[in-house]
Amino acid sequence: MSAVERTLVLLKPDALARGLVGRIVQRFEEAGLKVIGVKMKLMDADFARRHYFDLEERFGASVYNATATFMQQAPVIALVLEGAEAVANVRRLAGKTFPNESAPGTIRGDFAHTSKAYSEANHQVVANLIHASGNTEEAKYEVELWFDSSELFEYKTLAERFVF
Ligand code: ADP
Repeated sequence: MSAVERTLVLLKPDALARGLVGRIVQRFEEAGLKVIGVKMKLMDADFARRHYFDLEERFGASVYNATATFMQQAPVIALVLEGAEAVANVRRLAGKTFPNESAPGTIRGDFAHTSKAYSEANHQVVANLIHASGNTEEAKYEVELWFDSSELFEYKTLAERFVF
């Protein structure tokens, strides 16, 4: 059933280092998604493991280690966004994992360009700016991992009576 959903977005260290926080958040606001929680956090190894709990199983130790190390290098900004089918819509606005496969108009397609082959050849994490929950089950787990219920807020936006 279609519903109003909540989803987690992380602005990764490359987004902060490049001064793209405002422009990325603007994309979500312009699409009518509502920011209902926000925080800045420096992840530690334990927290990185809890966030990316299945990454090593999916892609192996070297992708996991590169990603976890990158995410702990500098603080990230976490957002909870709310909207109609927010999980899929935020993934659509984010683009594909590898920026070179992401359509223009998406965050990863507009603000980055590197490929899987480039990342792997250079033993680098792919610089793809944001994390967005992959499905509704992951969104529930991630929102609860990052935010206490007291850190999420209900309020009205002027847009929402028109957009959802
Ligand atoms: P997404 O972030 O699009 O949901 P995944 O869940 O598949 O993508 O992977 C999580 C993160 O792990 C990616 O965003 C990326 O930072 C990193 N990653 C995944 N695969 C690779 C790879 N082959 N090389 C480098 N980094 C990768």
